[in-house]
Amino acid sequence: MLRFDVITIFPDLLGPYLAESILARAQEKGLLEVHVHDLRDYTTDRHKSVDDRPYGGGPGMVMMPGPIFTAVEDIEAKADVKPRIVLLTPQGRTFTQSLAAEFSNQPRLMLVCGRYEGFDERVRTGLAADEISIGDYVLTGGELPAAVIIAATARLLPGVLGHEDSARDDSFSLDGRLDHPQYTRPADFRGMKVPQVLLSGHHQAIEDWRRQHRLARTRERRPDILCRD
Ligand code: SAM
Repeated sequence: MLRFDVITIFPDLLGPYLAESILARAQEKGLLEVHVHDLRDYTTDRHKSVDDRPYGGGPGMVMMPGPIFTAVEDIEAKADVKPRIVLLTPQGRTFTQSLAAEFSNQPRLMLVCGRYEGFDERVRTGLAADEISIGDYVLTGGELPAAVIIAATARLLPGVLGHEDSARDDSFSLDGRLDHPQYTRPADFRGMKVPQVLLSGHHQAIEDWRRQHRLARTRERRPDILCRD
């Protein structure tokens, strides 16, 4: 079982996504728990402030360290195992399938979502957290990155996908390559035919075809990941 704790100022953003499909079933089966915490519950002033103006001037607001440290420490104090803390930031290490696999072996993960101009630097230096980005672009908040990490990680937990091999064969997984082309019925759609070998029932020939296409497709589209072998 993997438990996520998400700290955010928009706790309602994640709910609908987590309540559908595979993620909902994973939670029903007790394989996944997601606890969303409203950062404003950890503030001390009347206005429930989580941000303030940047020292040195400039546009936008910066997330104050106080409420974030209080939230993290409160969740940690109630935890039976220490959660691994993940700070969501476009300046972090890029999230990958292998990191999703690593996360799926953790008992608990705490995802801290930023907003505005991001976190006061002391959040970064003081929390000793992993800093993770979901790609080289800037979103308005960490909630979508949190959902991405939960979705990519949860589907790797044993028992979450209907078919255990589904995740093993995915792009970036089995041999680090892209997945092979997939076809379903009809065998002929508007003159575009399914490759004959896939209709042959010859398992070894099908496996060879798929391996060749994984390699060719990766070489064509992502030579950068092929070179990592
Ligand atoms: N000023 C920051 C910078 O340039 O590095 C960007 C702040 S961004 C507008 C606000 C928050 O959204 C960040 O603190 C982070 O939590 C989240 N965020 C935005 N883009 C992200 C990405 N690519 N990966 C992870 N988190 C991201």
